[in-house]
Amino acid sequence: MHEYSLAQALLDGLLEHLRNHPPPGRVAKVHLRQGELLVLSEWALREAWRILAEGTEVAGAELVIEKVPVRARCPSCGYEGPVGYLKDEGWHFAVPVLACPRCGERTEVLSGRELAIVGLSVDDPAESAPV
Ligand SMILES: [Zn+2]
Repeated sequence: MHEYSLAQALLDGLLEHLRNHPPPGRVAKVHLRQGELLVLSEWALREAWRILAEGTEVAGAELVIEKVPVRARCPSCGYEGPVGYLKDEGWHFAVPVLACPRCGERTEVLSGRELAIVGLSVDDPAESAPV
């Protein structure tokens, strides 16, 4: 169950960040970026987050997960960009094809395995003006 350790790492990083940059109000949402190559159960991640965040200053904050497409670079022809998706009947997931769409050689993944916090939404009842 690696969702648990992922959630723990995210929470540790966030709490440390908040110690140095105290938010003006309650953290309502935590925006995440998840690479499409990172296989995880969103349900398990949310559940782990809910349990781990309990008792911390971000208890009850909702995870907002944005999926980031895979980007790859081809060492053979220099192609850089998204790779195609292989979809087969009976498969439940689209599996990113890591072959170069231009020349068919094997590519190096540039992004797509990350899970990172990219922003926070903070409730501030005392401040209703938009930022
Ligand atoms: Zn290529």
